[in-house]
Amino acid sequence: MPSVYRFRLQRRDLPGRPDIVFPGRRKAIFVHGCFWHRHGCRNSVLPKARAEWWAEKLGRNVERDRAAVCGAEALGWSVLTVWECEMNDLAQVSDSIQRFLGAAGLAPAGSHAKAVRSELAEPRVSVGGRR
Ligand SMILES: [Zn+2]
Repeated sequence: MPSVYRFRLQRRDLPGRPDIVFPGRRKAIFVHGCFWHRHGCRNSVLPKARAEWWAEKLGRNVERDRAAVCGAEALGWSVLTVWECEMNDLAQVSDSIQRFLGAAGLAPAGSHAKAVRSELAEPRVSVGGRR
């Protein structure tokens, strides 16, 4: 798979180019648009016109996503996928990211955990226009 080779040449270039990478923890986060990556939620309903064409086109995205996750995991990385529709609830998203990063284990209670939470809750990463 070409993207794996590219990773070997350039260490920072993981399969599927994750949106957010934590190299020290070997953890990567993909932020996916619901429609383009076929989340299955109501944002991902296919247009009635040329539905088959869309299904095939977007099916290739899903295949690529799956290959990217497998590729990254094969290289010893953990992968989390965050969906566009989940961004409606940033508190929930920051919770799942914290769990994913194991932040809770590092800072079980107190002000540090809160600081991490508010940092993660700040929408610094713009995902709105991503296709
Ligand atoms: Zn969705």
